[in-house]
Formats: sequence, structure tokens, C-alpha cells
Amino acid sequence: MTTLPQTTFDQLRTLVRGRVWTPGDADFEQVGRPWNLAVVQAPCAVVEAADADDVASLLRFASAHGVPVATQPSGHGATGRAGGAILLRTSRLDSVSIDPSAMTARIGAGVRSGDLQRAAAAHGLTALPGSSPVVTVVGAALGGGLSWFGRAFGWVADSIRAADVVLADGTARHVDAENPDDADLLWALRGGGGAIAIVTALELRLRPAATVFGGRQLWPAAHARVVAETFRAITASAPDTLTLWFEVLHFPGSEPMLAIDSTFLGTEEAARELLRATDDLPDPLADTRAVMTVADLGQITAEPTDPVPVRSRAELLTGLDDAALDALLGTPIAPLMAVQVRHLGGAFAHPSDSPHGPLTEPYAVYMLGVAATPDGEEAAAARQAELAAALPVSGRKPISLLNRSEGLSDALPDSSLERLRHLKGTYDPARIIQGNFEIAAPPTG
Ligand SMILES: Cc1cc2nc3c(=O)[nH]c(=O)nc-3n(C[C@H](O)[C@H](O)[C@H](O)COP(=O)(O)OP(=O)(O)OC[C@H]3O[C@@H](n4cnc5c(N)ncnc54)[C@H](O)[C@@H]3O)c2cc1C
Repeated sequence: MTTLPQTTFDQLRTLVRGRVWTPGDADFEQVGRPWNLAVVQAPCAVVEAADADDVASLLRFASAHGVPVATQPSGHGATGRAGGAILLRTSRLDSVSIDPSAMTARIGAGVRSGDLQRAAAAHGLTALPGSSPVVTVVGAALGGGLSWFGRAFGWVADSIRAADVVLADGTARHVDAENPDDADLLWALRGGGGAIAIVTALELRLRPAATVFGGRQLWPAAHARVVAETFRAITASAPDTLTLWFEVLHFPGSEPMLAIDSTFLGTEEAARELLRATDDLPDPLADTRAVMTVADLGQITAEPTDPVPVRSRAELLTGLDDAALDALLGTPIAPLMAVQVRHLGGAFAHPSDSPHGPLTEPYAVYMLGVAATPDGEEAAAARQAELAAALPVSGRKPISLLNRSEGLSDALPDSSLERLRHLKGTYDPARIIQGNFEIAAPPTG
């Protein structure tokens, strides 16, 4: 834990226009909590930046005093590494500006996925949203980012055109895909985590999508096998514009259920034709599929938006054979609440010079359990480990879905880890910027 005298934090209050909380403040504990309430973190201060200048002032202060700064817009991906650091909240960096003719968006670092989707939808455009409308676009993009539309357009990070960043010494810099001098920094931002520079704004490429067809079909557990087989059959030949996720759901107090969640970048008629095999399944309990704007995508999976204690684990799968279906469906997922299989492929597997590289595995699985107590978290982790051991996992994972027991080496190839290590040494030798995941220090001696 960093111990700086109160007078030093009083000085910080004079340096930034935004709010500063320190342990003596009544609501300090509350403002320092992450979205994932299972993660306990004890920052030494919390700063809500009013603008990019505040971020620069904060980093100059932190560098002068040798205190780490952990950027945490919401804490969906909290790992507990913010302990002793100054926690930077970016929610006031909330501007969204769309250039419809260039099909780009410029967003502040605190913008949540749902907010960008609403702004883009007004112009018949879309960004690359994931399942949750409340994660920040920057947080997901810096971890690569798996979107509903990744099969059509690749990693969220591959859409980054430019960024405004602040380096550890407080220097503000604009990095642009057009400028060869920025190539290293931009590469690190395109899925290398958030430990090289703090982003204050991003410029992203958008795509046309006046409306999409999508929603959730829900069945009772009795139909598990046939629903899973139908999901597998549709995904075997789906065009890149169609994305299906299969979910085993078991909410406390209710019976287990199965869902197929889908989105299609195209007409309702074409979508219904591609999904025709689901019409031959037993009648669903519910079917929310409809023509919607891309602003409504966050409602499909109905994930919790308010803070909750959770334990997640993701794996990339090399296939989905019968043995994998046996593992997913053979025994109840309890104490897990959701096991989601996402169809990948398409543009995910196209060449990408991002830190992760192409995502060639055809499926990802994301397992989520409530972790209200340490015992509950342990039980969820044990069930996740059991399922992972029974599934054909490739052994690596996307950064945006890493949990706090994992690290960058679970996601990135050695060559990318080495390049990130080098960049950390160049841009942040005093290791002031604290990402969710450690970039190992270079070997000494
Ligand atoms: C319910 C749920 C659904 C999810 N769905 C998806 C999904 O569909 N696709 C997907 O890819 N991921 C998904 N995720 C994972 C999510 O994208 C990651 O947890 C992501 O890190 C969240 O970003 P955040 O900013 O909201 O969270 P935070 O935990 O606040 O931030 C995550 C990390 O990003 C970095 N960071 C954030 N902002 C900045 C910045 N301005 N400058 C530098 N570094 C920064 C920091 O290292 C920070 O610790 C989901 C997570 C949950 C809990």
C-alpha cells in the first residue's frame, strides 16, 4: 500500500479539476469499488478526471511521487491489482461524436458500449458491441474485444484508427494509424491491455447497419441436446453476417434453460431463412427475435448491468464435437449461472497484426458464476475448471475475458509479450501505469 501524507493528496486536489477521494472521505469505499464486487481493491485515492488535462496532471503527480495509477472506468474486468494505486475513473470523458460520411466515431475514454451504439444507430451505423451495454468501449477494445459483429469485422481493436493518450510522464500524444512513428503505440493499444499509456479518446471505424435482426430463443432443459445440435449445425455453415451464441442458463430459484441468441446484419427474411432449423425445434418458452436498431443489442442477453460479485472463466475451443456437448450438457452447470458458447470464425480468423493475432478457434466458451462469498467463488472456479478440463480447449484466451487468476501469457504469444515488455520499458520505465494484468519486467542482469 502506498502511503503518502494527506497534504500530498491535498496538493493533487489543486492539480485536477475533477473530484478526488481519499480514505478519510465518507464515500471513499463506495467510489473505489469495482463493478465486479467479488474483487476487493484498496486504492490509495480515487480520481474522477474532468478532462484529458486532468489525466495528464494526474500522471505527472503520480510520476513525481512514484505512485501507480490504475485506470478503471467501471471495473467489469477488475483483478484486484489496483491495491495501493490511484484509481482513475474516466466516466466524465463521455463525449461521442460521429462522422457519418467518414463512418468514424470519436469517443471519450468513459463512453459505454450502449452509448456509442445509440449515437451510431442515429446515423444507420454501428460500432462493434459485445454483449453488455455498460462495459466501456475503450476497456473492451484494449483487450481485443469480442463483438456480436466480430465474425463480419474482426476484433473490436482492429477498428481503432487513432487515439489520444497520455504517457506515464504526463505527455499527451495523438497516435494515428496513418503515422508510421505511432505504429508501436497503436499496436499496443489494439489489444495489448491498458498498461502502456492511458487513453483519453479513441477514433473508431463504424459500419453500416440501419437495423439488425436478433434476439433470444429460450427452451426448457429437457430439449438441451437437440437445441445444442441445432446451434452446431447452423454455425457450421453460417455466413459471417450471422452470429449465434448458445447458452446454458441456471438462475437461482428457477429451472435450467437453454438459449440460442442471434444477430444478423441483414433482413428479417434472410435471417429467418438461415435460422429455419430452429423452427423445427420444440416450441420455445420465449422468442424475442425482432428487427431492432443496433442500440438495442445490449438487451439480447439480459446481463446484469448493476454491480454484482462474479467469477468468470473463458476458454477458446478447437471444436464442438459430441464429447464437448456431453461435457456442456451432461451434468447441471450449478453452481454456475451461465455457460455461453460463442461462435467465432469469419473475420476473427483473418490476418490481424494485433497483439493477439488472428482468432482461429471456431468457438469460445464463457462461464459465469455468482461469487457472493469466498466459498461461492471457490465453488464456481472449481466447476469452471472441471468444465474446461472436459472441453477441447486450445489453451489460450482473449484478454478481454481473462479473469484475475490469469495473466497476459494466457492470451498472447511470446513475441507479443516481448514487444509489450519492450514498450513498457520505453514508455513507462518507472511502471506508473498499472494495467489489470502485469507486463512482466525484463529479466535483470
Ligand atoms: C457481463 C459481462 C459481459 C462482457 N461481455 C463482453 C463481450 O461481449 N466481449 C468482450 O470482449 N468482453 C466482454 N466482457 C469483458 C469486458 O470487455 C472486459 O472486462 C473489459 O475490460 C471491460 O472494460 P471496462 O472498461 O468496462 O472495465 P474496467 O475493469 O473498468 O477496465 C478494464 C481495463 O481496461 C483498461 N482500461 C480501461 N480504460 C482505459 C483507458 N482509458 N486507458 C488505459 N487503459 C484502460 C485498464 O487496464 C482496465 O483495468 C464482459 C464482461 C462482463 C462482466
